[in-house]
Amino acid sequence: MTVRIDEARVFELMEEKKPSVVVLNAPGGLLRQTRDLMDKLRQKYGITCILTGDSCFGICDTSDRDVGELQADMALHIGHNAVVKKVGDFTYLIDAVDDASFEGVVETAVPLLKAYKRLGLVTFSQHMQQLEPVKTKLEAKGFKVLVGRDNSLLMGSQMFGCDFSTVYPLRDEVDAFCFLGESEFHAVGLALAVGKPTYMLDPHLNEVIDMEEAAEERRKRAVLAVYKALDARVFGVITGLKEGQKMLGRTRWISKRLETHGRRVVQLAMRDITPDRLAPHRDIEAFIQTACPRISIDGFTFDRPVLSIPQADALVALLEGREIGEFLQRPKWIELTVGQGRGRE
Ligand code: SF4
Repeated sequence: MTVRIDEARVFELMEEKKPSVVVLNAPGGLLRQTRDLMDKLRQKYGITCILTGDSCFGICDTSDRDVGELQADMALHIGHNAVVKKVGDFTYLIDAVDDASFEGVVETAVPLLKAYKRLGLVTFSQHMQQLEPVKTKLEAKGFKVLVGRDNSLLMGSQMFGCDFSTVYPLRDEVDAFCFLGESEFHAVGLALAVGKPTYMLDPHLNEVIDMEEAAEERRKRAVLAVYKALDARVFGVITGLKEGQKMLGRTRWISKRLETHGRRVVQLAMRDITPDRLAPHRDIEAFIQTACPRISIDGFTFDRPVLSIPQADALVALLEGREIGEFLQRPKWIELTVGQGRGRE
């Protein structure tokens, strides 16, 4: 697998903005390539590059505030692209593209997908350029293939781990979704959110995986956590401090609902929500976090319920005597605050 950072775009930016100090951040899988890029920027332009060592899981993990703290001129956020090219005041999104071909895995998928006539295509940042070739190939095999519309954040048929809004509207028009890429994380999220058969087409292993079992396991755990939290009297309600996940309005709303129903609320704020960080708060029986929903939905290591926003909505429904319904089936699990600052381009 070769994932290439769009260095041409980076060089273009350096020549246009002429920075002296640049802050970079990237997900773990792209750190080696990012370190190589830093060497190139130092050699080519004499720029001081600072790589932030904090966790970087998604487009919500930008480093715009660090630019001021580190007396830098701009930031490069590597590996998560979007419709917007600049977020906040100083941060430019830089693509990283996987050059894997889907030719082989589409051939593998065709017999497995024969029960379906209409397919929806979905992918994430690194495989966006594969949507059209895969669509053409599947159409040539006789499928009707639909792609999603772009919106103010995502490109057509693009998804993040918490935002399925480009393809969610297609769910009544297709029989199944195909997620292009090798990310179980994304494919499971998609399956949960759209509530339709979902297949992951992995171009590297040439594998096609039906996500039903994995999604059902996550769904059951998510429901169980809601019912466990129903018995709690003391809640920790956590606001995420990452730039793209700040949901103060939701924190306040949820806290108010809990207090109305006789629960005690301790408001907390933190950047990384981990079992270690929650451990000292022994008196708190359940947590609700309004940051990344995947911390809750994929987080199997917490010793108490830690609910995401959709789960908190389900909990409030139960407290108010309503049905919880399919609370994970929605276009977005969190309203990302990425790109809502000044300087959006
Ligand atoms: S909040 Fe969304 S974009 Fe950010 S890490 Fe979580 S799933 Fe990814």
